[in-house]
Amino acid sequence: MTLRARLTLWYAAVLTLVLLAFGVAVYALLSLSLIRQIDATLNVAADEIRLAFRREVTGIRLPPMALDLTANVYVQIWDTAGNLVVQNVSVAEAPFDADRLTTGEAAYSDVRYEDIHLRVLTYPLVAQPEGTVVGTMQLASPLTTVDEAQRALLVLLLSGGLMAVLLAALVGWTTAAAALRPLEQVTEAALQITRADDLSLRIPLSGPAQGEVGRLIVAFNETLERLENLFETQRRFLADVSHELRTPLTTILGNLDLMRKMGQLDAESLEAISSETQRMKRLVQDILVLTQAESGKLPLARSELELDTLVLEVFQQSKVLAQDRVEVRLGQEDQARVMGDRDRLKQVLLNLMSNAIEYTPAGGSVTLGLACVGDWARVTVSDTGPGIPREELPHIFERFYRVDRSRKRTGQGGAGLGLSIAYWITRSHEGRLEVASEVGKGTTFSVWLPQSGSGCSDKAPAVEAVIGRR
Ligand code: ADP
Repeated sequence: MTLRARLTLWYAAVLTLVLLAFGVAVYALLSLSLIRQIDATLNVAADEIRLAFRREVTGIRLPPMALDLTANVYVQIWDTAGNLVVQNVSVAEAPFDADRLTTGEAAYSDVRYEDIHLRVLTYPLVAQPEGTVVGTMQLASPLTTVDEAQRALLVLLLSGGLMAVLLAALVGWTTAAAALRPLEQVTEAALQITRADDLSLRIPLSGPAQGEVGRLIVAFNETLERLENLFETQRRFLADVSHELRTPLTTILGNLDLMRKMGQLDAESLEAISSETQRMKRLVQDILVLTQAESGKLPLARSELELDTLVLEVFQQSKVLAQDRVEVRLGQEDQARVMGDRDRLKQVLLNLMSNAIEYTPAGGSVTLGLACVGDWARVTVSDTGPGIPREELPHIFERFYRVDRSRKRTGQGGAGLGLSIAYWITRSHEGRLEVASEVGKGTTFSVWLPQSGSGCSDKAPAVEAVIGRR
């Protein structure tokens, strides 16, 4: 069943229930009040008779006043032997309510008397001062007007209710259609996007953005945008990977071709093949680490480690790496303990150091420092290199991103994955990687890691070079 039909049905069903309850209440109240009125009339008449009641030796006599009663009240007086003593109607001589005649109790009842619907009040006649029951009077009033009123009300309620429900269903049906129309438009637009296979399309917002449908459209469009970005990132990633693999593969194939033509193995070609294969292996490994880290599935051998010892180790290795081309310095050297994977953290620091060494021109300097800042340990790698333009900074941690794609690379030149990997490894350690740079002055990368245990202490005064301050 469609939502529209369901809404209409619910609407009509609820209205029917309400009308039914209302109708029953009105009907019952009206009936009750009409019967009460008749009962009151009967009661007044009974009181008058009771007060004027006289008993004569020959029997019980209806007082003359009773005959003055309104024609709508019929009276019968019966003696205890069951004989009709007197009555003010000329109908058949049967008690109005035979069942209650001998009960000796005052009671109201509804009876059918010769096809007339009657309300009957049975009342015992008590002789005073003896206090003995000498007979029974029965007063009756026809319920014809009550019945007619009830019937008319019933017809009115039923026909009115039916019309109201039908009208409500009709209004509900059209209102639901109007309310659901924007949803149909959204569905149609979504189907068009699917058919066209074009994620760049958006559903136009026709109503207010805050309405239910407006919010749905906004949310849907946001999802589309995210999907589009995701597919675009994937597409770019695949293109970048293919591009990065193509260069070493071309070199390998070229060298193999050369050797085939020469008909012999060539040491230089073999060296080139080996180095390109290594490069491809590194690339594939990097991609694997990156995808694992990005999805939070990078296996980490976490243990509590002395970050200062690790920094010293990286410092020593970096000195070897820099040879005498750039000066590698040790800046502030606090002591800090962190929870983490030693090899992965070393990979991050070495990556930052090798970048700094690589991009800093000969004669420049690279400073490695470790400082405690509150609950955090901050490792900084500062260089006096060319710096990174401000507009490039937001992209620096993206996969395969290189500031200057045509920049001549040294032998170890990466594919633009190093910083992404460093970023994600740091994030896997609940830390963060920041960069500050000024073109022409230098760059500072900061690795922030949460300290573990008792925190850290100063070892040496700050001698960290302040380069590329933000
Ligand atoms: P790559 O393998 O190209 O070094 P990275 O992800 O490590 O890839 O770095 C991305 C880009 O960021 C580099 O291509 C380079 O342009 C820039 N970069 C990284 N570190 C520095 C630095 N210390 N100084 C200047 N530019 C840097």
